[in-house]
Amino acid sequence: MIEILSIVLREGIRDREVPRGRRVEECQMLGFSFTTAQEEFRTGLREIALRELLPRYQEADVNLIYPKEQIQRVIRYSNEFWSDREDEWNLVSVGITAEEVARGDINSVLPALGKPYHDQFLADFSPAQQQRWLPTLMSGEQMIGLGITEPAAGSDMGRLEARAERRGDRWVLNGVKNSVSFLNAAVFYMFVRTDPDTRGWQGISAFLIPRDTPGMSFEPIDDLGCRAIPRGVVRLENVELGDSDRVGEPGTAFTRISRFFDVNRAVIGLKCIGAALQSLDETIAWTKKRVVFGGPVAGHQSVSFKFAEAATRLELGRLGCYRVLWMRDQGVACQHEGAMVKWWAPKTAAETIHSCLLLHGHYGFSKQLPLQQRLRDVIGWQIGDGSEEVMKLIIARELLGR
Ligand SMILES: Cc1cc2nc3c(=O)[nH]c(=O)nc-3n(C[C@H](O)[C@H](O)[C@H](O)COP(=O)(O)OP(=O)(O)OC[C@H]3O[C@@H](n4cnc5c(N)ncnc54)[C@H](O)[C@@H]3O)c2cc1C
Repeated sequence: MIEILSIVLREGIRDREVPRGRRVEECQMLGFSFTTAQEEFRTGLREIALRELLPRYQEADVNLIYPKEQIQRVIRYSNEFWSDREDEWNLVSVGITAEEVARGDINSVLPALGKPYHDQFLADFSPAQQQRWLPTLMSGEQMIGLGITEPAAGSDMGRLEARAERRGDRWVLNGVKNSVSFLNAAVFYMFVRTDPDTRGWQGISAFLIPRDTPGMSFEPIDDLGCRAIPRGVVRLENVELGDSDRVGEPGTAFTRISRFFDVNRAVIGLKCIGAALQSLDETIAWTKKRVVFGGPVAGHQSVSFKFAEAATRLELGRLGCYRVLWMRDQGVACQHEGAMVKWWAPKTAAETIHSCLLLHGHYGFSKQLPLQQRLRDVIGWQIGDGSEEVMKLIIARELLGR
């Protein structure tokens, strides 16, 4: 994707200094094509997604089965594929994984994204923490849960109330996290306030808490979608931890995880778009075959225009998502671009899948087809990792100034 054209990236972006001292104007625009290796990777993944993941997608939803085997299948393929060309295993390649795997099973995406993604998510792990957790997380053998949302702190994350108090050389944690995906995780990456005198985003630290730590309890939530990935409440009651369980410097956790969110929002966008593109392909095939009033449903312009509009919207979202990933690969700040694709892509995907469902008539309404499940799953990602309104707040802040 990063084949360079001599088009300089300048549209709408002025004077933004990036962490490594580069300005966005100094980076060159996408070549609008993947590299040969990335194309090969995409082709292989598409085949795995459609042949191996899609047939198991609905069973996992109905029977609440965590798709561990499917996730590990993708991980094995990716590790093998990139083993002798690691320099091309960047975030754009991670985006390809998200998009293609979601065509088969959107719920198998996040833990299967590989090293470049984990390098962003777990950037602040100490060498000892990496040694302990990374091998099993990267192989898909174990999962990690992220605990930020609380009963009184969702969009307004700065109202976080869970606390860690210093008692001698130990930390004692108390609080409730009420929306933790991967409730089946082996370890939880929990955000709590360590400085009681602070408010908002200051004074928040992160800890790694193994599942079997005394004082942890779990309560599943019965969700509308994403049912193969258990989500629920985690209660912390006098959970004792040491300094070695803390991630990064005290008080700075929120700023650091925000950097990960910028990238994660593009990944979420691409997985929703992958699910929508697959729905579109299936619906085009169906409406070309299904005959009404003497001709195929797709022969009506009011139908074919729906496809044209959906394809256009999805392609715009898709390019926006890959651009965000490319920007981070280049070391360029991408906060409001991440927010843009996070509200646009899941919404467009949900609207497309809804329309595809209707174009299948009563067959679309039945649970035999995966469309209803894709719609339920994608709606979850219109909320998870930040709602549309919160994304618009981020963009507006950039446009209007703080
Ligand atoms: C599938 C899924 C997975 C999730 N996984 C995790 C996880 O692993 N870990 C975790 O910590 N959390 C997770 N979450 C929680 C998610 O991040 C929160 O639900 C989200 O941040 C919104 O918070 P809230 O639900 O409390 O809604 P609220 O903050 O109560 O918002 C309610 C409504 O008000 C709107 N709103 C809020 N502020 C404004 C404003 N200023 N202007 C206009 N409208 C506004 C919102 O857009 C929303 O529509 C997950 C959620 C879902 C659905």
